[in-house]
Amino acid sequence: MSTILKILDSDYALKSPTSVAEPSNASEWSREWSRWIPFAFLHVGVLGVFFCGWSPFVVGLALMLYWVRMFAITAFYHRYFSHRTFKTGRIQQFIFAVWAMTSVQRGPLWWASHHRRHHRYSDQPGDPHSPVRESLLQSHIGWMTVPANLQTDYTLIRDWTRFPELVWLNRFDWVVPALYAIALYALGAWLEMAFPALGTNGLQCLIWGFFVSTVILFHGTCTINSLSHKFGTRRYNTPDDSRNNPWLAILTLGEGWHNNHHYYQNSVRQGFFWWEYDVTYYILKLMSWVGLVHSLNPVPAEAYQVNSKTRRPHP
Ligand SMILES: [Zn+2]
Ligand SMILES: [Zn+2]
Repeated sequence: MSTILKILDSDYALKSPTSVAEPSNASEWSREWSRWIPFAFLHVGVLGVFFCGWSPFVVGLALMLYWVRMFAITAFYHRYFSHRTFKTGRIQQFIFAVWAMTSVQRGPLWWASHHRRHHRYSDQPGDPHSPVRESLLQSHIGWMTVPANLQTDYTLIRDWTRFPELVWLNRFDWVVPALYAIALYALGAWLEMAFPALGTNGLQCLIWGFFVSTVILFHGTCTINSLSHKFGTRRYNTPDDSRNNPWLAILTLGEGWHNNHHYYQNSVRQGFFWWEYDVTYYILKLMSWVGLVHSLNPVPAEAYQVNSKTRRPHP
């Protein structure tokens, strides 16, 4: 019963939404197996493709929703809520949070609190996901099932707790994904009636748009926790094992320049040079031109000076 309550109410075990979550400590590094249920649910749902079939429309829909939601994760969960690398209004902030929550990667404050801890202890004791200290699989997905990582550490995100709408979204982090799934089913059911030539239906849109797209998005995002601390090159001699990896930068719309990011995490742009494609940054720049966001933090001049002096291979 308490397992279900913990899934339905992320802050169930906290005294109040602003109280301190249990600190991470070595004795707690055992898995809570029930927390694999959401991951199992999503992955088993992918098997639905054998029942609902496919159509060019739903494959395109799944791909589009991957990119649209990957952008929300990198631009909003990562570059906004975790690092505050640009500014926006309160209404946009709420919309951005809801948009990113369709990715089914829990709430913005949970995501940001663990990510801030990752930067504080990168590849050291206390890092929630480090492929250097633990296995690749543990840093990729297993860390999310560790009891110490289940709750939001509100002490690390005090700057966001003054927004009750964000605390509510974060606390009931299943609401937006559930509405998103229902909306996809409704879209498919409507398209079946209005545009039968597309060859789609409610179940097909639900399976491909929710399950297939979300599982690929989940693993795409997690490559930054696992692979980008293992494979790639190091421009900056940061105290962690972060790497720049152009392949991961394609998959994640610019997050693959992870060594750049660990070196200077306040920059909205993670591809520091023109050839380091950073689609998330390009889109945020466009959004700033129409006033949706503003005050984008630039790459500091020192980042370019350090580059020419200290470029060295990882030991
Ligand atoms: Zn970061
Ligand atoms: Zn990292």
